This record gives sequence, C-alpha cells and structure tokens, in this order.
Amino acid sequence: MALTPHQTQKLHTAIEQRRDALLTELREDVERVRRDRFEDLAGAAPDPGDESVATLIADLDHADVGRDLSELRGLEAARSRLADGSYGICADCGGDIGFERLQANPAAVRCIACQTLHEKLYGSASGSSL
Ligand SMILES: [Zn+2]
Repeated sequence: MALTPHQTQKLHTAIEQRRDALLTELREDVERVRRDRFEDLAGAAPDPGDESVATLIADLDHADVGRDLSELRGLEAARSRLADGSYGICADCGGDIGFERLQANPAAVRCIACQTLHEKLYGSASGSSL
C-alpha cells in the first residue's frame, strides 16, 4: 500500500532527526581529523565557517567513518526521493516498500523481496565476505 501523507510526514521527520544526529557525529569526526591535519601545519586554525554537506562528505572520505558516511549518503538520497516524490517506491520492482519497513529503515531503497534478492546476488550491505 502506498504511503499516506501522514506516514510520509512521519518518515520525513525520522529522516531529518537521524540525519541531524549523524551530521553532528560526523562533524565531530571531521573536526578531529582536521585538528590532526592542521597540527602538522604549525597551528593554522581550521575554518569553522558553515559548509555544505557535500564538502563535509568530501572531507569525510578521508576519515575513518565509512559506516556513518554511507548511512548519511542513504539519508541524503532518501531526502531527495522525498523531494521528487519517488520516496517509498522500490528501486528494483517499482512496488511500494511499505511503511513498516521504512520505519525500521527510512533510507531503504528496495522492498523486502527485492532487498533479499539483492543481498543474495551481491552480498549484504554489511559487507560479509566468503
Ligand atoms: Zn521491489
């Protein structure tokens, strides 16, 4: 069943809250990385100016925050799907992902059936190896 406006709003709020929490966490990581980097440059102060999420993500590519970063990317993608109206639609089969699944994982891009198939074909997102 397609999401109701109320369900979409709830998921939107959950995405924003999770994104804010992640951004706070990641900014602290970036600060730490920059501090380490700038200490090598004889105490040049890092620029605390407001920066775009894109800049943050670029910096984080150099930091050891892979898991948080991929979650943030997933949430950013979810936000743009919310904006263009494709949120909640399975990327593989075009069916509805379902409210319960989205509540558990607001960044989900596939319905459960397609996600299960995807993990069988490509391995799970957690990177389990053979
Ligand atoms: Zn699907």
